[in-house]
Amino acid sequence: MPRRPVPGASVGAGALLQLLRDGVPRTRSELATLTGLARSTVTGRIDALLAAGLIAPTGETASTGGRPPATFSFNPAARIVLGADLGATHARLAVTDLAGNVLAVSNADLDIALGPKAVLDWVVEHGLGLLDEVSRPAADLLGVGIGLPGPVEHSAGRAVNPPIMPGWDGFDVPSYVQERIPVPVMVDNDVNIMALGEHFTAWPQYEHLLFIKAATGIGCGIIASGQVYRGAQGAAGDMGHIRVAGADDVQCRCGNTGCLEAVASGAAIARKLTEQGIQAGGSLDVVELARSGSVPALRLVRQAGRDIGEVLAGAVNFFNPSIIVIGGSLALAGDHLIAGVREVIYQRSLPLATRHLRIAAARTGESSGAIGAGVMVIEHALDPARLDASNDFKTNG
Ligand SMILES: [Zn+2]
Repeated sequence: MPRRPVPGASVGAGALLQLLRDGVPRTRSELATLTGLARSTVTGRIDALLAAGLIAPTGETASTGGRPPATFSFNPAARIVLGADLGATHARLAVTDLAGNVLAVSNADLDIALGPKAVLDWVVEHGLGLLDEVSRPAADLLGVGIGLPGPVEHSAGRAVNPPIMPGWDGFDVPSYVQERIPVPVMVDNDVNIMALGEHFTAWPQYEHLLFIKAATGIGCGIIASGQVYRGAQGAAGDMGHIRVAGADDVQCRCGNTGCLEAVASGAAIARKLTEQGIQAGGSLDVVELARSGSVPALRLVRQAGRDIGEVLAGAVNFFNPSIIVIGGSLALAGDHLIAGVREVIYQRSLPLATRHLRIAAARTGESSGAIGAGVMVIEHALDPARLDASNDFKTNG
């Protein structure tokens, strides 16, 4: 989310671009007023951003006489990014411009267990295919973002002890991809990129957001002050293994008992339905049953919402989010999941923390992860400090 520069702080070309990323065309003198910079300094910064193609002249404003002043705005078409959202058995790719607008997408069944080389070869081949589709050369690519369905050490771009990804543990994803596409490559877990995609696309006005992915497992992506919060080891938001009261007899795959994921995930609901004599193989079967009006399925989905709400009630008191977004395949079961979440959070969280709290269903749909993977690259590359330190801008004062 574009942020205004702090008055008095040094305002480089990067901060000026950040200001213009809201898409509003502005004149040199408007930018001088907003930033507190001298008009001549603004002109220098504008020229550097124009030369880099990151902004463009946007015609002339109405004037009270004389030659109308030129306006400038962000040019999202300047570069493109490739985002890849790799799930356990499915992959999605998206090419977007610098404003996150989707130019092309590609989906395929792809087993993550094929190992990093086979899966990343697919990403490279089909990613380059998408560039051809939108008639953009690889030179226009700002970077590649990749989401993986397991724990990731974001700074190193490697999966760490992923439970469902044989061969991926410690594999250097950026180096492997860069040998084929020589641009910056960034990696994060699937929940963080979904949170980023959802925040950027649907809820940019909310600075503090929790995104819940309720599917075969349960995870949470945290946006704090507009940025992904990962914690000390990248484990922030791993709410699936927080204990739910009264579930001590339920064994979790992690070795503990009573974990949220063991009682409220799509897999857990499918198991409970099967115990009741209703065949359900997983999350998608649960969604189908709930949508067809199966009362046992609807009851279990609602209870899963309450269990998720119980864990979230503590997070709401602790983190004070402005919005909680509920997504993942289980959210497709309809309103019962979110109704259960709301019921418990408003009952159990502190009034001050819930006074303006919004709880909403995810809006971005199946492409949120792939879009978010691209957004991760955009936010990194267009970060004001990083941009000012780059060769294009550091000589421009
Ligand atoms: Zn567990």
